[in-house]
Amino acid sequence: MSNDCIFCKIAAGEIGGPPVYQDEEVTAFRDINPQAPHHILVIPNEHISSLNEAADGHQALLGKLLLTAAKIAADQGLAETGYRLVLNTGPQAGQTVFHIHLHLLGGRRMAWPPG
Ligand code: AMP
Repeated sequence: MSNDCIFCKIAAGEIGGPPVYQDEEVTAFRDINPQAPHHILVIPNEHISSLNEAADGHQALLGKLLLTAAKIAADQGLAETGYRLVLNTGPQAGQTVFHIHLHLLGGRRMAWPPG
């Protein structure tokens, strides 16, 4: 855990409301500034600043983020209509919180290419 990381504090239950999903490896919670009717962030409980800092040993954990997002999407009724997963990496991609997080966005039609 990084003491100055807001997402570490959320994973530890120190701030934020009840998670959408949590187990010993990952936590999912609603984005504070939703960009779609459904906007959920899925994070590893372990602090990893960005995908650039992920190592080979994180392979299973990163796969778990994807599978957790898919399960939450199904639980939220998004599997059939579709949803988008976004993982911003670095400032030019728009990453503002430096703890890996997968955005799960759904409930509206998405544009392509993304802005
Ligand atoms: P990114 O720009 O990809 O780094 O995404 C960071 C996301 O975290 C943004 O969509 C923010 O709205 C969201 N966010 C920041 N602080 C919080 C918080 N305390 N609780 C929930 N979501 C947050």
